[in-house]
Amino acid sequence: MKNLDKILNKEELLKEDILFLLQLREADKIEMLQKKAEEVRQIYFNDEIHLRGIIEFSNFCIRDCFYCGLRRSNKKVERFRMSKEEIMVTAKLIYDSDIKTIVLQSGEDLFYTKEDIAEIITEIKSQYDVAITLSLGERAFDEYDLWRECGADRYLLKHETANRNLYHQIHPYQDFTNRIAHLKYLKNIGFQIGSGNIIGLPNQTLEDIADDILLCNKLNVDMASFSPFIHADNTPFANVENCDMQLLLNTMAVARLVLKNAHIPATTALATLDEEGREKGILAGANVVMPSFTPTPYRGNYLIYKDKKCISENPKQCMPCLDLRLMSIGVKVSHSHGHSLKT
Ligand code: SAH
Repeated sequence: MKNLDKILNKEELLKEDILFLLQLREADKIEMLQKKAEEVRQIYFNDEIHLRGIIEFSNFCIRDCFYCGLRRSNKKVERFRMSKEEIMVTAKLIYDSDIKTIVLQSGEDLFYTKEDIAEIITEIKSQYDVAITLSLGERAFDEYDLWRECGADRYLLKHETANRNLYHQIHPYQDFTNRIAHLKYLKNIGFQIGSGNIIGLPNQTLEDIADDILLCNKLNVDMASFSPFIHADNTPFANVENCDMQLLLNTMAVARLVLKNAHIPATTALATLDEEGREKGILAGANVVMPSFTPTPYRGNYLIYKDKKCISENPKQCMPCLDLRLMSIGVKVSHSHGHSLKT
């Protein structure tokens, strides 16, 4: 206990400390870790949780990630693309729900040209006082430039795993160095960047997870998302076991201690893994929730992983449910834009 207390009160955690904390399994020790993570969250964010309304506007993807249900080799997916008009109607719904960040996410779908995306950004920005996060995968640098000029604020591109060999095993045709170069470029041209990993990948070690947290720190990310691996049908990992919940919560709590004022979401994947996943994530240091506003029936086809939460609900039903859940654990929804606290 004394040792744990000493580690939890260190200003800067070393890799060996991180490894020690990730392995905690006794209830009283986990409680100490989570308390500390909550304390750090409160220093920077009080009891405020930021909401990001997400529009998953296309499930077409040119990539073939082994874990993802949207991979191009999965012929069983009914593919969809939303029109610009549909995206604008959904953006209004998010704005009308008093959410000040709109996340535009899709598979890597080159059908939408640089100009198409620019037009959508410009139109949303001209109509609504919101921040825009893009999560479109790897695109050309000049495309990032234009989208930034049009007013997009943030870009979410997870490094997925800091283990270069593992990265190459599960991402055919993609390159780890290149992915990191994209993140650095995005940061350089003024985007607030989000990265992060997936936890529970085959052959992933605790050391890899420690490296993921340290890499996020090194990249000075504004947001870091640690999601549990959940198997998706018709993928090479369809039979791999889902992520261990405690390992995920420990990772989130340690990430809060290391990354301090970065935004950390309690992901939908976490809510899928556990009925009270979002609440547990917040109690482990998360300060962001990303409710999906993808219209039905499209949301039922954006199945990155199996049994994704809330796929049959109408987006309008989500907000009251979320409000209640947040209230029940003593936090409240922020109505600010929730920009980065990093300088
Ligand atoms: N195509 C975009 C974003 C869409 S996917 C991109 O490549 O950035 C968003 C995130 O879902 C991915 O970054 C990945 O971390 C996560 N994801 C995909 N499949 C998953 C699975 N089976 N379990 C958990 N998370 C998964």
